[in-house]
Amino acid sequence: MQIETLTIPTHDTVLRVTDAAAGLTGFIAIHSTARGPAAGGLRMRAYDSEDAALADVLALSRGMTLKTAAADLPLGGGKAVILGRPAEKTEAKLRAMGRAVETLGGRYWTAEDMGMSPADMQVVRRETRFVAGLPDGPYASGDPSPRTARGVFYAMRVAAERRFGSRDLAGRRVAIQGLGHVGWHLAKLVRAAGAELLVSDIDPARAAQAAATFGAEAVAPDAILTAPADILAPCAIGGVITEEVASALPARVVCGAANNQLTGDRAGDILHERGILYAPDYVANGGGIVNVAAEILQVPDRMHFVTERLSALERMMAHILDSAARAGTGPHRVADRIVAERLSANDAAA
Ligand code: NAD
Repeated sequence: MQIETLTIPTHDTVLRVTDAAAGLTGFIAIHSTARGPAAGGLRMRAYDSEDAALADVLALSRGMTLKTAAADLPLGGGKAVILGRPAEKTEAKLRAMGRAVETLGGRYWTAEDMGMSPADMQVVRRETRFVAGLPDGPYASGDPSPRTARGVFYAMRVAAERRFGSRDLAGRRVAIQGLGHVGWHLAKLVRAAGAELLVSDIDPARAAQAAATFGAEAVAPDAILTAPADILAPCAIGGVITEEVASALPARVVCGAANNQLTGDRAGDILHERGILYAPDYVANGGGIVNVAAEILQVPDRMHFVTERLSALERMMAHILDSAARAGTGPHRVADRIVAERLSANDAAA
């Protein structure tokens, strides 16, 4: 295995990891350890190029710094990626990545992300202690998705209260894009709250299954963003709210689990100008990192910790939405400002 350190001024540490025998090329990016060890998942994806993978790991690790700070966790932001289709995953690749994580001596904790399973994390665990999201063990936190979905659901009620005058979702039309780990759990919660559901997935079988399970209306993937809904919950991929989408979106609230939902601040500004309330993604979807944090921090009473932190995230969302309303600006800008203030307070204390 070879590790090359790249100098990236915006990031604390960036490693390019290769292992010729295992056929591995990957990156580990630590964006910040100002608040504690960097945490963030390991993703496997068929990137178009190494540059694309590097850009992804840099953006995602920065996003983790924002997310851990927003959740007020004593953790920083990091991320790791392996280039390739998940079908090309091998034990040798996972173990080589595990050895690279171990070289950082706990400055970066990895976990499951897209293209990875809890079983894969157990393989990585053979080479490094610094893995969370394990299915078993003394502090194991398992799949974070149900907690992520719960956090999104709480955020959605807060946003509904601000936008529609009631946190009650009964009778609201909620469109969920992506019915994977989080989207499915969210559909269950939203349906139980009495909302009408529109569901969409690029896997038509998954959409049909959700429609049958939740009495939902299945919508084609290219129609979900323009479907007549009160609330849109992006739970598939990032970058779905482009300026064009923001200009045409019929929903009045955007609140989902996907990371980096806005393609840029301008898209968020357009939502704001059109009276669409955007619940900043890294606050809405913070339940997952809270769950993982309990394992990293070896919290004795995980359920209590997670419940308390989910309530704190809900209060944070309310604070962001109310501050944005008072300032007459978009919540995306207020969230970034609040988190930047938290991070600079840590830098000043260091
Ligand atoms: P997942 O891979 O289990 O599910 C994603 C689903 O979206 C899949 O069913 C996929 O077929 C579908 N999909 C992909 N592209 C689509 C499209 N264009 N239109 C409709 N459906 C599409 O992922 P997940 O764990 O459920 O995570 C969902 C999102 O939330 C991701 O962006 C992830 O980064 C983010 N997130 C997840 C967690 C977590 O706890 N799992 C935590 C924070 C953020």
